[in-house]
Amino acid sequence: IGGPENLPILTDHLDSFDSPAKEELRRKPHLVILGSGWGSVGLLGNLDKNDYDVTVISPINYFLFTPMLPSAAVGTLELKSLMESIRHIVRRVNGHYLEASAEKILFSEKLIKVKVPGTDQRFYVPYDKLVIAVGSTSNTHGVKGLQYSNQLKTAEDAVEIRRKIVTNLEKACLPTTSDEERKKLLSFVICGAGPTGVEVAAEIFDLLNEDLTRSFPKILRQEISIHIIQSRSHILNTYDKAISEYAMKRFEHDQIDLLTNSRVREILPNQVIFDQKTASGEIETKSVPFGLCLWSTGVAQNPLAQQVVKDLAGSQKNKRAIETDAQLRVIGAPLGDVYAIGDCATVRTELAEHCSDYVRKYIIGSQSHKFIRSHHIITDDDIKHVDLTYNELKQLCTQISQMNPLAAEALSLVEELVPKYDPEGRKKLNFDQVKLLMKEVDSKVTSLPATAQRANQQGKYMGKKLSKLRKSSTTLSINDIVDGDIDNAIARPFKYRHLGSLAYIGNSAVFDFAPGYSFVGDIIAVYLWRSIYFAQSVSFRTRVLLFMDWLNRGIFGRDILT
Ligand code: FAD
Ligand code: MG
Ligand code: MG
Ligand code: MG
Ligand code: MG
Repeated sequence: IGGPENLPILTDHLDSFDSPAKEELRRKPHLVILGSGWGSVGLLGNLDKNDYDVTVISPINYFLFTPMLPSAAVGTLELKSLMESIRHIVRRVNGHYLEASAEKILFSEKLIKVKVPGTDQRFYVPYDKLVIAVGSTSNTHGVKGLQYSNQLKTAEDAVEIRRKIVTNLEKACLPTTSDEERKKLLSFVICGAGPTGVEVAAEIFDLLNEDLTRSFPKILRQEISIHIIQSRSHILNTYDKAISEYAMKRFEHDQIDLLTNSRVREILPNQVIFDQKTASGEIETKSVPFGLCLWSTGVAQNPLAQQVVKDLAGSQKNKRAIETDAQLRVIGAPLGDVYAIGDCATVRTELAEHCSDYVRKYIIGSQSHKFIRSHHIITDDDIKHVDLTYNELKQLCTQISQMNPLAAEALSLVEELVPKYDPEGRKKLNFDQVKLLMKEVDSKVTSLPATAQRANQQGKYMGKKLSKLRKSSTTLSINDIVDGDIDNAIARPFKYRHLGSLAYIGNSAVFDFAPGYSFVGDIIAVYLWRSIYFAQSVSFRTRVLLFMDWLNRGIFGRDILT
């Protein structure tokens, strides 16, 4: 059948008649899931069998256990332990898989335009329910010369890094290699000190210290250097302060060169040029040569997510992710058709919209404020004329964060933005200025962290909800449904539970537990860290493989050098 632009529309899959169970499913609603990462796999694991005719579309046919990717890149773990075939995962729900990329969504026709990678071939896939879980891409920050650096997002990236480390070590041992050249080959530069950069640095450090001298000349040890270039003053700055400081101390002790307050300007074939802000505030341009340069400076928006936001421009207001409501429904798409989860999505914070309510409730309504004395009823006019001092603004943010944990991260930006909205330096903002400020916060910040944990929780939530929705016709009466909102009638809004982040820094792991708790440890931490990942592994197969890898490493050293 011909779709728009005369492209074919998929009707049946090649395997639609493979079994009676699959044939039966053809009559069920079509659920299409875009992506084969954390969000999608969380969903697939929690969906009841036979509720939907499921199709997963992703250019990558495996699920990747990303938290352990830094270990695989330096050979602590075998890559295959971190990969799980998506076909294997889809099989549980008798679903289908197509190795392709979604390009555009036609919301009113309920069609997805899909491209076959490496070709110009395109086709349409129809859906009844669609879940977008396409993740994010690396942030380039517009820096030139990124082609000379390595990234770490996919299994191929890890293979490439591993190969480069070995090649450089071998080259360093050749008699034709000069001292200077050897130093360069053994210089590792890491741009970005978030968890990935920090973990790779720590893994490289451990590799070179623990295993290198077993097989390579001892002299190499003195010539190796590890540099971390970071734009802020601290590493791991999204973590608890104690953790960030522990990591910094640890790295200093390990003689890892931390270049803070530094911004990469350009990457040349074998050196990184960066601007460093000195203590006196001047900017110095410096360079550091490298044999391997890792680029890991945070995430940017996936092209499909960008397209979705563009197509729904009237409703979508965030610049970094697809906005959803608290039920994870894409704002602007027909209600209940399309959901977005994981890195590509954010739950709208709506600070600007509720700004006057917040001011009414937390500032004017508070006993200390002057308005309470002169008025009994607070009118909209009162609110328009309110002036908030910096302190009151801070108080307002604290109150909102307590009420709405989703907004907590967003609100941490307020302090940075205040000067922009107070150009005259009055040290206070009028209501309109506060509202504009909140609007900018709404548009700039994603309300949830870009982590596997979050994507997985949202996936689970969606899997359970989609199954409930299928059963809702028998469990719900018309009276339960207010304003045609079935989602609200059957499920609570999504709630994020922060279980703590983990980062590995050289034979110890740093944990970031719920706010107020933090735990910094040594060898016990490593085992705790491992067992947590163990518990999170998707299948028994990966669990066994991971275990074998750790065992192997303990006994034989890393694979990279043997
Ligand atoms: P992803 O898991 O990235 O999956 C996106 C999927 O969509 C992929 O399969 C991709 O191929 C597919 N896709 C892309 N474009 C399209 C398209 N147009 N059409 C169809 N499919 C498409 N998080 C933690 O919580 N803890 C950690 O320790 C941690 N460590 C990390 C280490 C590394 C090296 C990396 C790279 C990430 C790490 N993360 C960690 C972050 C975590 O991996 C992400 O937050 C998580 O993968 C997000 O899940 P997702 O489902 O949104 O996207
Ligand atoms: Mg996914
Ligand atoms: Mg993933
Ligand atoms: Mg990690
Ligand atoms: Mg996603």
